[in-house]
Amino acid sequence: MSKPTAWMHDEYEALVEANLDWRPPVLEGPSAPRCKVNGREMLMLCSNNYLNLSNHPRLKEAAIAAVRSHGAGSGSVRPIAGNMDLHVKLEQRIAEFKRRDAAIYYQTGFAANAGLIPQLVGKGDHLFTDELNHGSIIDGVRLTKAERNIYPHNDMGGLEDLLRKAPSAGRRLIITDGVFSMDGDTAPLDKICALAGEYGAMTYTDDAHGEGVLGDGRGIGVHYNVEDSVDIEMGTFSKAFGVVGGLAAGSEQLAKYAFNKSRTFLLSGSAPPATVAACTAALDVIDEEPQHVKRLWENTEYFRNGLQQLGYDTGNSTTPIIPAMCGSAKRAQTLSAELLKRDVFALPIVFPMVARDKARIRVMMSAGLEKKDLDIALNAFEKGGKSAGIL
Ligand SMILES: *Cc1c(COP(=O)(O)O)cnc(C)c1O
Repeated sequence: MSKPTAWMHDEYEALVEANLDWRPPVLEGPSAPRCKVNGREMLMLCSNNYLNLSNHPRLKEAAIAAVRSHGAGSGSVRPIAGNMDLHVKLEQRIAEFKRRDAAIYYQTGFAANAGLIPQLVGKGDHLFTDELNHGSIIDGVRLTKAERNIYPHNDMGGLEDLLRKAPSAGRRLIITDGVFSMDGDTAPLDKICALAGEYGAMTYTDDAHGEGVLGDGRGIGVHYNVEDSVDIEMGTFSKAFGVVGGLAAGSEQLAKYAFNKSRTFLLSGSAPPATVAACTAALDVIDEEPQHVKRLWENTEYFRNGLQQLGYDTGNSTTPIIPAMCGSAKRAQTLSAELLKRDVFALPIVFPMVARDKARIRVMMSAGLEKKDLDIALNAFEKGGKSAGIL
């Protein structure tokens, strides 16, 4: 008789056969614009380290100091004995940074979505969610018994139809990514808030790729000038903020309710001192060193224009996520290999993450890249794009 776990081997081999298994490269040192990957110096074009804060001296010093003063771990979950002054201070700092009344800090952004969404709506309620929302939202939605209404990507007519048709009883919640991570386009949050007002819905934005980037770093709410209308501004410290952790900002009631109800928060150990202190330092750096956000946008404009001048289609991107469209998966994979040969690290995104004919190299810009780095990368995109038959 075969072992009861034999299926794992079979399923894994099927992934390998379909070329869908992950074999991640190994970073030997910090995540930085120039980093060492699999033993080679490379230009990093695919991390979420938009502001180049993950290796910033102030974040590192804050983490080290917190280990000395508070230790390596927090000892418990927040509601029991793992609630340190560092966590309380960070939450106050998040609220101030986001210009909201209060905030809650989760261990990760995933934990925020999986823990909070199911506490906002339930049986008899209605959820309205963009078809391209992130997987952690999808998992949060799966944990609710609310009726799901999935609207076509950024289609406000489609959203309004669904809002109009939904029965008026129960709560309503509209959830959207702020910045969509495959195309680098933004949700029309001003229009979403207007519809929410008209149809009595709560609004929830997942601004994982917008915080630290849009609205002088404060996120998509500020960018669209609707920060007071969004009921729940969720985000992450794992991207532009350079550390790890999730957040939800909004009213006092929201923070208190989320603290008392989110199961991923109540039942999972709180973040360690080093992480929490580094997150606080990240917000301080963004406030006190505005050059990082400025540089990020200068680099973004320069690189996007450069790709377009080479003849690349960069889709609907209006943010530092810049897709270089390739067409077939084969072309995207060839281009990625050509870039790697030239020490430029940027990975292909292919089906099922995007449509079969919309394979691409997704560039994530960073404030830490210098103009000469961008020119090296553009040169590699030119030569590689010709070899791959894209240009
Ligand atoms: C990365 C990401 C998350 C998860 O955030 P983590 O803090 O890394 O768990 C959630 N939502 C979106 C849109 C993301 O891009």
